[in-house]
Amino acid sequence: MSGLGPPGGEATFTDEEYDALFVDVEPLAPAGRRRLPRLVSLLGLFVAATMLAVYVGDLVGGVASTPTIREPAEIRAVALDEIAESPWGWLATEVRIESLPEPRVGAYVTNNPPDGVITIDLRPWTAAGLDELIDHELGHLLDFAVWGTVADGRRGGIGTEAWAECAAVAAGTRALDRRDPGTEYHCYADEFAVYEAAVAELTEVCRNWGSRECRPVTPG
Ligand SMILES: [Zn+2]
Repeated sequence: MSGLGPPGGEATFTDEEYDALFVDVEPLAPAGRRRLPRLVSLLGLFVAATMLAVYVGDLVGGVASTPTIREPAEIRAVALDEIAESPWGWLATEVRIESLPEPRVGAYVTNNPPDGVITIDLRPWTAAGLDELIDHELGHLLDFAVWGTVADGRRGGIGTEAWAECAAVAAGTRALDRRDPGTEYHCYADEFAVYEAAVAELTEVCRNWGSRECRPVTPG
């Protein structure tokens, strides 16, 4: 993979937008009063994401492989294979394939509350694109597992998408960025160093969703 652009065409969110959508932030008002503003901001976000038009896709790495993984069962099987190979795969509880309404969103996980479900858009994928996507989403799940709703010191201070992109770099399915890709979907060498240092400090990770469990983190 080129490492340029959002994996699988995820929408680009600022941290604020991402937190509003996917991260369980401190409630500002009772849930009933927050519902309408959240819906409005969601619609606004999709409009904004469409206007950004930053997806550069798989054409940027030179050889553009043809996306041949099209059937939901096949997409899910490839995703489950990558999950099985990842040290963080156990944080995922389920993989769902759905047609996501926003063309720029290739997949998502939620932290509101976290449930470990990875939902992937029903679209043609390359195996490499799916692998990178899964490692990116598992990076988000690791973030949710380690920090939950804690704001201070979260992810060593790097952005939510940078953290997830660096998780894909660590997994070997993404390259480091040497130049600014023009989106928040980047992992520069200094961000990767932050990611690796944060992961190196982990001794145990707990999955606080699904069947709750904690696992020791083994070095390497
Ligand atoms: Zn992401």
